Amino acid sequence: MLIIGIVGAGTMGSGIAQVAIAAGETVKFFDPLPEAIKRGQDMIKKNLDFLVGKQKLTSDESFDILSRLEIVDSLNDLSSCDIVIEAIIENESVKKELFQNLESIVSQKAILATNTSSISITALSNELQFPERLVGMHFFNPAPRMKLIEVIKGLRTSDTQVDYITSLVKRWGKAPVITKSTPGFIVNRVARPFYGEALRVLTELGTDHISLDSVMRDCGGFPLGPCQLMDLIGLDVNLSVTQSVYEATAFDPRYAPSLLQQELVRAGKLGRKSGEGFYIYPVGDDDTESSNINKKHELGSLTLGYIKSSGIQSLIDRLNDTEADLIESAPGSTIATIALTDGRTATQRASDELISNLVLIDLCINFQTTKRIALSHAEQCDPIAIDQIVNALANMGCKVTIIQDVAGMIVSRTVAMLANEAADLVHQLITTPKEVDMAMTLGTGYPIGPLLWADRIGVQNISNILKHLCEHYGSSRYRISPLIQRKSITNQLFHGT
Ligand code: NAD
Repeated sequence: MLIIGIVGAGTMGSGIAQVAIAAGETVKFFDPLPEAIKRGQDMIKKNLDFLVGKQKLTSDESFDILSRLEIVDSLNDLSSCDIVIEAIIENESVKKELFQNLESIVSQKAILATNTSSISITALSNELQFPERLVGMHFFNPAPRMKLIEVIKGLRTSDTQVDYITSLVKRWGKAPVITKSTPGFIVNRVARPFYGEALRVLTELGTDHISLDSVMRDCGGFPLGPCQLMDLIGLDVNLSVTQSVYEATAFDPRYAPSLLQQELVRAGKLGRKSGEGFYIYPVGDDDTESSNINKKHELGSLTLGYIKSSGIQSLIDRLNDTEADLIESAPGSTIATIALTDGRTATQRASDELISNLVLIDLCINFQTTKRIALSHAEQCDPIAIDQIVNALANMGCKVTIIQDVAGMIVSRTVAMLANEAADLVHQLITTPKEVDMAMTLGTGYPIGPLLWADRIGVQNISNILKHLCEHYGSSRYRISPLIQRKSITNQLFHGT
């Protein structure tokens, strides 16, 4: 068994210490603030007591685990450690100074690891005597519960250390993904559009935060909507991750922080911790969706049109099973027509395809089972046509959320951008399709990995959405990853052939 030093007894340091002692290692636990150590120790004890209460551990096992946690008073007491993991404040110069001190204390073969969420591992290692021994070990909060750990290789980190930490992490019952040191690593980088696109839709007044969250949960299958999640993480913390990725990528417009989010932070609306963010806490009954329609209507038989596309067939079949009769719409048709969004606004597409009564449907993870459909309609669309489509969807048993005519709607633009971001990391050999998908499902709880999702929707369709967003906004924010472009032309999948 190893001796693991943990520096920093805050939220993450305590969680990591718990993981290590539970896996049988001895932990030497250091924080300069005695009250921090006390809080950390209490937190570990409380977590273990909870597991005893749930009969997942016996009291003897819990006692045994805690006996491996050794509080130390000084960094010098870490001299016998095989590995030292730091989880101190997120500040480059403070972390660098700590590692330089540690180098003079630990043995030459000890591994140094950092739990930084955003600082370059290469930068942290560059003044070390043995930079090859510094590895990123990015745990997720709460560390004892979250399976994923990103193992990060700086430019000078040795493969031997990365392999060693990867097998250690597996031994601790965690799922490692190896990544190069890149801004935001995998999860925090690929997840940026989850928040960024939501903030853009809200800024354009495409809908309100409650409807947006409902659509992302019920149509997209995400466990929490982006506004709920930003409130949970803290709007200030979320903004600072975006800002650090933005700065580290030489101000790439893809990661430009949202003015809306900055204003909320300036107003002290930080989310749950301040009592108010997008929502006011505790969330009351008033916070129900305003644009939600779920009444049933007498329709009689009604003919509706649709524009054929691969993703929407199961919705058409479901509608056909009700009293509606669906036929394919041809250019010039004035029939009320639905189509799956392809990134164009409904108004633009109605004009391009000469179908004035066009209603767009946002992407759903499963059209066969979805209980909600989000739609937007063309400016030219007759209100009667909108009613006909809303009624047909409500009769099918779906809640209907009507949003403004925003390009790419909500779920579609988000999923396209998540896939684009993931594809860029694969293209730059920072990760692989399998690892990025695993990281995103384990690290964030997304219903499926973005690249598997892209395969299912069709990479060509993702490419089309991005192309239309690019044209609509005239911004390189939506530029297509070279890998998406290549795969869409050659009709290849990210997973398999
Ligand atoms: P925290 O504020 O809860 O704890 C930080 C602890 O470090 C404090 O107890 C503090 O006393 C101690 N500390 C500060 N400077 C120190 C120094 N020079 N030497 C020794 N101890 C020092 O912070 P946290 O949320 O646990 O985050 C710690 C690290 O983990 C940061 O790098 C953060 O970016 C990263 N991280 C945080 C999360 C998260 O969700 N909180 C997730 C992943 C990674």
